[in-house]
Amino acid sequence: MIQDILFEQVTPPPRHRPALPDPHGPGCFYSRSVPLPAATMAGRIQLMLPPDLPPGQSVTAEILGQEGEVLATVSWPVAAETPEAADHLMMAFTLEAPQRVTLRLTASTRAGSFYLRAAKLQRAVPGQALDWSGTHGRLNLWPLDRIRFVMVGNSGICTASCLHCPTNKPWLPVPRGEVMAEAIFERLAEGLATCGLPIGGIGFGLFGDPLIDRRLAERIRRLKALLPGVPVTVSTTGAAFVPRQAPVVEAVDSIGVHVESLVPETYEALMAPLRFAEVIPRVERLVALAGPKAILALPVHQRNRAEIADLEAWWRRLGGGGVEHQSFTNRANLDPAVTALHLSPVTGACTQDLAYDLIVDWDGRVLTCCNDFAKRSNLGSLATAPLDTILADARRERLFRQLRHRDWQQIEGCRTCLFDDPAATQAAAAASRAEAQARSLAIATASGP
Ligand code: SF4
Repeated sequence: MIQDILFEQVTPPPRHRPALPDPHGPGCFYSRSVPLPAATMAGRIQLMLPPDLPPGQSVTAEILGQEGEVLATVSWPVAAETPEAADHLMMAFTLEAPQRVTLRLTASTRAGSFYLRAAKLQRAVPGQALDWSGTHGRLNLWPLDRIRFVMVGNSGICTASCLHCPTNKPWLPVPRGEVMAEAIFERLAEGLATCGLPIGGIGFGLFGDPLIDRRLAERIRRLKALLPGVPVTVSTTGAAFVPRQAPVVEAVDSIGVHVESLVPETYEALMAPLRFAEVIPRVERLVALAGPKAILALPVHQRNRAEIADLEAWWRRLGGGGVEHQSFTNRANLDPAVTALHLSPVTGACTQDLAYDLIVDWDGRVLTCCNDFAKRSNLGSLATAPLDTILADARRERLFRQLRHRDWQQIEGCRTCLFDDPAATQAAAAASRAEAQARSLAIATASGP
């Protein structure tokens, strides 16, 4: 089926959200001016609901003309008990003449906590069912014709409990992790080598610190021998780095090092219980050894946005490689202490491409995505099944189809998943650089010729 799309927006940035006098009350949470042709059209509105939605609430969509006149309107009930319905708010209307209209969405309460995830308007063809599936994904074949990325939770243990990370939090409903057993790792490695699918890359990390695993270097070498040419990365805080792990640095293609601040108090507030004075020297030794293989993994948020240029300069002085400015994610946790760190939050809206990723935790459990710290998803387990069975599992096919059809609200983690708009992340980094440049210019001017 061909989609005749007249307007579409996925994860609109907050500039389309008008300021609200009371974010807890009723109000508008999306407004955008859109040129439309004369046509009969149908629309699909998809929302992320507030976590604390009281009963008996509704959302209204309006199509407004140039003078603010209402050309079409529709209201839908929204309820915490039926979150899936928020992905299927359907509307139909006709415009007699081409014109610029405003699409406006309002909520009867908690307007500040409603998010538009996607809006699509299509030309309606009488007697013909419309296809509402996503058009943003790049991979679209089932069964899988490749594995895009493999994320291995070789260690379920982390020495940090970062403010915005669910790992080690007492409320997380999962038992304390361990290092991945050899039988599970071997099943994974053999499975990858014999599955016959191209593999885009392999990363060690997930919910723990991979350097806790004393067999990490050996495991990287094993994968490299089985899968020549497939890049292997490691993600760590550096807190567990000791000289005996030098072979890890030698074996791996790149090593992402997560450091959020160079201000000790900020670092310790964000990456507790790690101690700045103990960890930073370890990071510096690690970068001295790894050189350009070491990538600074830098989630950019409200608490460190002013420090980005300083962190970049520090990394350059150490001789590290690039800096990866990561869009901050709440990791599907709506705790206000976490969401307050956002620069410019938009909802997660993964495409079916995600079904091409293989996420394996230390116990062999295969998960939907790297934000599923609570392990609410279950795509099988390498503890009980070989990899080819896991890859062909009906639950993975279901995930592929859910994301292809944009049924995000059917996936529990997606109901609370926020990311910063990447443009806002890059803008914050650029602003920090400009600020640093202005500071050094001012110092140079003050000290004179
Ligand atoms: S919870 Fe996972 S799958 Fe869902 S939108 Fe967020 S990152 Fe994507």
